[in-house]
Amino acid sequence: MKKSEAQQKIKALTKNLQQWNVEYYENDAPSVDDAEYDSALNELKQLETQFPELITPNSPTQRVGGFVAQKFEKYTHRSPMLSLSNAFSKEDLIEFDQQVQKATGKISHDYFVELKIDGLSIALIYENGRLFKAVTRGDGITGEDVTANVKMIKAIPHTIDNLNNGTVEVRGEVYLSKHEFEKINQQRAENDEALFANPRNAAAGTLRQLDARVVESRNLQAFLYFYMNRESKAVPTHADSLNLIEQLGFPINKEGRLCKNIEQVWDYIVEYTESRSKLPYEIDGIVIKINDFNLYEKIGYTSKSPKWAIAFKFPAEIKTTQILDIFPTIGRTGRVTYNAKLEPVQIAGTIVRAATLHNADFIESRDIRIKSQVKIKKAGDIIPEVIGVIQDESFSSLPIWSPATTCPNCSSELERSEGEVDQYCINSKCPSIIMRSLQHFTSRDATNIEGLSIKILEKLYDQGFIKDVADIFTLSQHHQDIIQLDNFGEKSYANLVAAIEKSKNNSCERLLFGLGIRHVGKKTAKILAKNYKSIKNLVKINVDDLAVIYDIGSVVAQSVVDWFAIEENLSVIAKLEALNVNLDYFSNNDTQVHKDFQNKIFVITGTLSKSRNYYRELLENLGARVTDSVSKNTNYLLAGQDSGSKLGKAESLGVKIITEIDLKDLMEEK
Ligand code: NAD
Repeated sequence: MKKSEAQQKIKALTKNLQQWNVEYYENDAPSVDDAEYDSALNELKQLETQFPELITPNSPTQRVGGFVAQKFEKYTHRSPMLSLSNAFSKEDLIEFDQQVQKATGKISHDYFVELKIDGLSIALIYENGRLFKAVTRGDGITGEDVTANVKMIKAIPHTIDNLNNGTVEVRGEVYLSKHEFEKINQQRAENDEALFANPRNAAAGTLRQLDARVVESRNLQAFLYFYMNRESKAVPTHADSLNLIEQLGFPINKEGRLCKNIEQVWDYIVEYTESRSKLPYEIDGIVIKINDFNLYEKIGYTSKSPKWAIAFKFPAEIKTTQILDIFPTIGRTGRVTYNAKLEPVQIAGTIVRAATLHNADFIESRDIRIKSQVKIKKAGDIIPEVIGVIQDESFSSLPIWSPATTCPNCSSELERSEGEVDQYCINSKCPSIIMRSLQHFTSRDATNIEGLSIKILEKLYDQGFIKDVADIFTLSQHHQDIIQLDNFGEKSYANLVAAIEKSKNNSCERLLFGLGIRHVGKKTAKILAKNYKSIKNLVKINVDDLAVIYDIGSVVAQSVVDWFAIEENLSVIAKLEALNVNLDYFSNNDTQVHKDFQNKIFVITGTLSKSRNYYRELLENLGARVTDSVSKNTNYLLAGQDSGSKLGKAESLGVKIITEIDLKDLMEEK
């Protein structure tokens, strides 16, 4: 290849990899799977080996790919948190072994092999035995301070027996079990939220958000595997350090093994390639580390990874199977999703029988047909995906697929607005929509009524006890009928009635979210509730009134107005009120919305005596909005010590700059 051609190719690969890094590390939502990312990175590496003069310090081959989000305090790592270089075959491992031999001048080494847990790395820093900071890897040099969130992870001790009364740093991986991951995605599907592609993204998405209560509810777990105070003579090897980590009270992964040579390492890889599907958590490879700490410095580091360790990555499994059928399902908002029924096939340890085909565009653009042979892959080893059609001889004789025109449940015509990819069933009486709406209404983030599974809801609906969400609050009138439903004894009935009674007294944002108004997610429901104080005040609202509220755009405003303009919806609200269901907002904080704060925009910067989360919550409870960057719309900059560029920008824009003391004074001026 000519140098100019290589230059073009490097530019294109770098652009893609940088974009994928943003999606993966910053947004926790990758658009391509790891195999595609790895193959692009490999291609870039090969071009750079051929033309070393084209390597730039910013190349994705030279830097740890992560980011530090603005919303977190930054923390500079005492030593960089690096990535790992990858091996994809036995040959790659042999080459790694030879490089290690060259660096140490020794012909054999002990390797410690471990599972590569598919989570995100975390550094835990203890000062005098107390958890002082928990920090993500970030860009490797600087991480995000997620201490408040990490304190919610039960397995991580808040105090340790600190032998030398100084600083102890332990690093490891925060992860979600397969079970917990599936539970979260199921809940997100019910709420019509985008699904997490894999447990790693779900764990990162959970840890890298600002509400510690979400972390508490999601059951994150952790394995620790690096003891950073390696200079201590008590831990000359990685195996010793794991024992010490365990003695200090941290969870360690017990599947690790000491290997005498690369052959034994390979046996371990073969063993776990087969048995990985039985593990309760996902792994995306095997990590091979030199056991003797004394060799670390000798073998050294690149700018991106240590040379004394390597990660063997499992290949993405791709299989061919046949599409037996393509069928639409209707979601809570009436949206149509197409799924494929597949000839069952084993991939990455599980039998796959179905795959999502998203929408009609997805199927038509790939020319997927019923009875065609397709290649499927589990993206991030979890969600099965059709990646292509095999256009063999029999393919051309198969009929071209065409989208459904009517709803599979109520037979009314499906609608597709100009420019939208999705089709919708817009019949509000469609049983499928009603069922999903009822399910959403009772879900945890909405009214949180436990005991009403979709099966029970279907029976209650079929028997005419529930026709709309308000009827849920009349179920105690049907005691005898309900206890005769399958699996519904007196105890379950009593629990259900208690859960329904309790939910009547929720603050109204839960109910508002549960009503399933299009575009009104949890956050929007809270904003509406805080600003309007009661669902009754939304009944006669107009778009202009709503649009003055920050965070409520015109699309959301129109959707709310449209919902409250429908007579049937108003009668549901009236019915709820008559059944003594609370329609008002209760501030869960002692503080009340303050007129001087309402709708004011704050930005927080610098080091404050309390966390940014604390101030964010306080200000939001007073009716203010907190944003990340200073603009001419910002009303106040709350600045602590060492405020950086935001302070300069606020000064230049004439934004009012206040300290914590000023804020306190403002709050007291009522
Ligand atoms: P990595 O995931 O390949 O390896 C390093 C990480 O492994 C460490 O930071 C640590 O968190 C983790 N790890 C898990 N178990 C470990 C153990 N026992 N010992 C040591 N470390 C352990 O490195 P990376 O730089 O975070 O990510 C690169 C990989 O991420 C790529 O190879 C690619 O597969 C994936 N990626 C995918 C996309 C995408 O769009 N799909 C984008 C960026 C990165």
